[in-house]
Amino acid sequence: LQNGLKSALKTLQGKARLTESNMREGLKLVEQSLLEADVGLDVVRDFMGRVTEKAVGEKVLLALDPTQQVVGIVRDELITLLGGPAEPTIKLKAGLNIFMLCGLQGSGKTTTCGKLSTLLMKSKQSVMLCAADLQRPAAIEQLHIIGKQLGVPVFSKPGEQDPVKVCQEAVEEAKKKDVTVLILDTAGRLAIDEELMAQLKRIDNRVEPDQVFLVVDGMTGQDAVRSAGAFNDALELDGLIMTKLDGDTRGGALLSVRQVTGVPIKFIGTGEHLDALEPFRPEGMAGRILGLGDVLGLVDVVRSAVDEQQAKELEAKLAAGDFTLDDFKKQLKSVLQPGLMMKMLGMLPGMGDLTKMMSGMDAEGGARRLVGIIDSMTPQERRIPKIIDMQRRQRIARGAGVQPQEVNELLKQYNTMAPIMKMMAGQGAGGRMAAIQQ
Ligand code: GDP
Ligand code: MG
Repeated sequence: LQNGLKSALKTLQGKARLTESNMREGLKLVEQSLLEADVGLDVVRDFMGRVTEKAVGEKVLLALDPTQQVVGIVRDELITLLGGPAEPTIKLKAGLNIFMLCGLQGSGKTTTCGKLSTLLMKSKQSVMLCAADLQRPAAIEQLHIIGKQLGVPVFSKPGEQDPVKVCQEAVEEAKKKDVTVLILDTAGRLAIDEELMAQLKRIDNRVEPDQVFLVVDGMTGQDAVRSAGAFNDALELDGLIMTKLDGDTRGGALLSVRQVTGVPIKFIGTGEHLDALEPFRPEGMAGRILGLGDVLGLVDVVRSAVDEQQAKELEAKLAAGDFTLDDFKKQLKSVLQPGLMMKMLGMLPGMGDLTKMMSGMDAEGGARRLVGIIDSMTPQERRIPKIIDMQRRQRIARGAGVQPQEVNELLKQYNTMAPIMKMMAGQGAGGRMAAIQQ
């Protein structure tokens, strides 16, 4: 999706003068890339209808920068489609909160129980897990392993056949222990069936969870959309959690699921590790789809990885619009942690290509290489990268022991990213809300 949309928008941007006919041409490409990305036909039609109505008008054509306006319209509509500007992901009430996770087998429920615990513990909640998947004997054991790993108590009742009873007893136990969030890990099936739905409805009615989350596998495309529709008909869902968005992004499913169910996407899972869960932010996702990068997300990642002081400095720099290569290097160095690097680079505007270039190497090595290139520049070059001409590029490359193309690539990416960072930082890192509101 990302690449398709990007080139569609590039086509638009390449036009010297935007006319109604070449704008329609560009929008046609946007439509095509959405369809290719597996977004449902109805959703695409609706979307394009709204975009075209807003874009094909005299106002846009007469504007100072019509192509920017069209990109802006596409971006705004994407955000709307993804659920509007971000709200706090979860609201907790005082006392015990009960979350119920449901979804098909293998969608990632049990793993997500662990991931949610990690997030909740970070905001000082007392968490307990309940093994209510009695379908597979191994399921209880799997949850116990995750609980042990995180230091979270797991309630289970070996031999009990009725998941409702297990959940009810877990609630009693949680109340006794002053737990603030109890997460129910329910059973799934390979496909939707009556029995599964009946069981989930029974748990929903008798245990009365505060929040019911549907976990959907983001890799399954339109299947995810269909199953989400079925679960939504049977249960009153409070939120969606889409997992496995770390591999080949099927942005399409994400766009459709939200539209089909009308239920907000709360989190996205981006890996098998128990900390690979991110609050879903429509603005960031729309920006990423359009290749603008997710600057606010980047600030969050940096904040969780480095100390508060450094993150504040980065935010201030971004807001002031003077993010230099020196700052870039500082960030690279401070987050030389395995895995984190790729995540950060993926979030930077226009950095996708650079990440791809480095994907043959390990992330850490890639970051060191970039640091090495910046290190080979003079202080003046780092402050004012504009002055780096052909000759200087060759000298820097020699100094860093890399090919001149790599220096070019780094500068190219920096050049696209700096103005966008300035713009996006101006739009208010301050308006961002916490993922979990108490
Ligand atoms: P359940 O049957 O719904 O409880 O699913 P599990 O939690 O057991 O997960 C099924 C598989 O998906 C496991 O191998 C998980 O490691 C994997 N998985 C879950 N979430 C993610 C994710 O966000 N990314 C990736 N790559 N794998 C995931
Ligand atoms: Mg499970």
